[in-house]
Amino acid sequence: MSTASDFERNRRARRRRARLRKKRIRAAIILIAFIAVIIIVCVAVSNCKNNGNQSLGGDAAEATLSPEELIPTAIPTSTLAIPSAAEENNLLQIIADAGQTKHCYLTFDDGPTEEITPQILDVLRRYNVKATFFEVGTLIESNPDVARRVYEEGHLIANHSYGHNYEKLYASTESFITDILECENAIKSVTNGEVPFNLIRFLGGSYEEGEYASIKQDCIQTLKDNNYYYINWNCANGDAQGKTKDAEDLLEFLKESSAGYNNLIVLMHDASSKQSTVDALGSIIEYLSGEGYTFHRLDDIDYQGSKSSVQTGSTSSGESETSSAAGSENETSSDNTSVSSSGNSSSSDSDSSSDDENDNESSDEEDGDLTETSEPEPEEATPRPTAVPASTGAIVIQ
Ligand SMILES: [Zn+2]
Repeated sequence: MSTASDFERNRRARRRRARLRKKRIRAAIILIAFIAVIIIVCVAVSNCKNNGNQSLGGDAAEATLSPEELIPTAIPTSTLAIPSAAEENNLLQIIADAGQTKHCYLTFDDGPTEEITPQILDVLRRYNVKATFFEVGTLIESNPDVARRVYEEGHLIANHSYGHNYEKLYASTESFITDILECENAIKSVTNGEVPFNLIRFLGGSYEEGEYASIKQDCIQTLKDNNYYYINWNCANGDAQGKTKDAEDLLEFLKESSAGYNNLIVLMHDASSKQSTVDALGSIIEYLSGEGYTFHRLDDIDYQGSKSSVQTGSTSSGESETSSAAGSENETSSDNTSVSSSGNSSSSDSDSSSDDENDNESSDEEDGDLTETSEPEPEEATPRPTAVPASTGAIVIQ
């Protein structure tokens, strides 16, 4: 009897254990399913949040985009049917001879700076305009990310000396070219080794007047020997001339300075103190666009080799005496149409007292940028950039 009842007890106990096991397994399955549901819900919520952020647009969205996604990637068909630097290295003269119409070249000297250059780039991007930045070697080394952004967003980086030190730069033709080539190395460090265009702008312009006038003329030949172009300007916003100007003053200055010119090479600055240049830039672009100009980098020249009359100012006569930097370049030329050639104009721009040079420890004169020019380089030595689009010229307010 006892064995039969023991057997029965054991059987019941086994059944209980089996039921218990089944319950546990069921509980485990429910727990796993519950966790899985929680994970799925979390993932779904997270995706929703991301989508929400993306739909915000504007800066938050843009910040996640690479420069390639932000800018048009059209490659310049341009340019360089222009004479070699060995033949003619005054780019202002080449532009005058090109036979093109209503091209505007916005140029910024004395950067890159952390404070101003990114803001300039933001405005240029908003209007889909490409420009030329004459950068200082030491500042490229201090602000490599900013310099790289200039390059990656399709603007032209050109050479504005290594140290922006007049005394050192103009001590001799040897010190001059050494300094320029040192800046070239700094440029290459942010352009994947490329020299986009052998082009410089002289500190203080290339003019035949002033303290360094004589050595500057010798340096023009040195640049020629090294296949470099140079360029001054024929128009300015006045951000380095006289007293500090607000955005409205700069626009008015530019309107006067640009009057009557066919092609414009506009001198501006992205030195750290030039907030008003940022503030005025949008209205300047809109004004010039309204006047019929298209915007280009300085390696984007529609050269027809026409050696046509040296004309940049097609309209009214005689307004060359606009007291601006531009006007000053033309004072000695016969009429407003000239895009003054190399250094023979009188460059009154020396008034530019500005603080642009503040960024550069060693600069001794601050007249600087109101009297500067730049040179081009030989086409062979510097093939056109393939990765960097030239300006489209189109104004697109985005
Ligand atoms: Zn300068």
